[in-house]
Amino acid sequence: MSAQLIDGNALAACIRAQVADKVKTLATPPGLAVILVGDDPASQVYVKHKVADCEGVGMRSLLERHPATLSEADLLGRIAALNADPAVHGILVQMPLPKHIDPKRVIEAIDVRKDVDGYSVQSAGELMCNLPGFKPCTPYGCMKLLETTGVDPRGKTAVVIGRSNTVGKPMALLLLQANATVMLCHSGTPDLGQFTRQADIVVAAVGKRNVLTHDMVKPGAVVIDVGMNRNDEGKLCGDVDFENVRQVAGWITPVPGGVGPMTRAMLLVNTLEAAGSGL
Ligand code: NAP
Repeated sequence: MSAQLIDGNALAACIRAQVADKVKTLATPPGLAVILVGDDPASQVYVKHKVADCEGVGMRSLLERHPATLSEADLLGRIAALNADPAVHGILVQMPLPKHIDPKRVIEAIDVRKDVDGYSVQSAGELMCNLPGFKPCTPYGCMKLLETTGVDPRGKTAVVIGRSNTVGKPMALLLLQANATVMLCHSGTPDLGQFTRQADIVVAAVGKRNVLTHDMVKPGAVVIDVGMNRNDEGKLCGDVDFENVRQVAGWITPVPGGVGPMTRAMLLVNTLEAAGSGL
């Protein structure tokens, strides 16, 4: 049996179309400010996509590029100005920042009502306490991908591999909110397979190829691959041994074309919410 593919490109296109329809009904278009410090090539590509996504749905985007020499104080000053700007509903600072700038201080400087990445301590606390707030875009997108399978997490066993503040931990909390029984695994987990083999839902968010192989997967499980790695040919691949795991799993996300486009789509959803509207 071969797993059904969960098509992140198609779902993201559908969400973008819904956001665009909603934006048309608003008197003022939602505005997203994107700040890029330095010239990291990958960051430049991400930022370009985020700006294009905004424009594609009729939102305003404000791209600020600063040299890597920008001081932390000056960056905090720019964030204060954007916090005070009523035409800016969401603020995103592209990571990583140059070493002399403390990313935590920068994230905490963003007005929590404009924290569309959902990275601040307050946003994280809101998620933990089941309060309304911005959910980090990647795990939020994974939940939407899971929804399309029709597999209700209630009463299911879910394993999240990776415990970062931006992906693994919020992913585990969202699955918990959806009434799954959740195990959160990490680099110190001995024999990862003994946990993943019990899981109806596995989310891999590690950043290492082949962390999840076919012998570690319960037949019929939903497998969501967040990882972004390069294979020996230099092509983008995930954390999951896709070709072999797809023979065992019930549903699986490809890389590329799975979680990546959904992360971008959920940024638009969060920006829409920041402007006081929802889907
Ligand atoms: P991260 O901060 O480096 O966290 C990686 C996590 O994986 C850590 O918790 C680490 O455990 C755990 N880990 C490392 N080796 C492991 C192993 N052998 N077995 C089990 N767990 C292991 O990375 P991240 O920011 O969460 O991102 C994870 C991956 O997702 C990366 O490839 C990243 O590029 C990708 N990503 C993709 C998107 C997207 O839109 N597609 C968005 C965000 C991230 P410890 O905590 O013990 O060190």
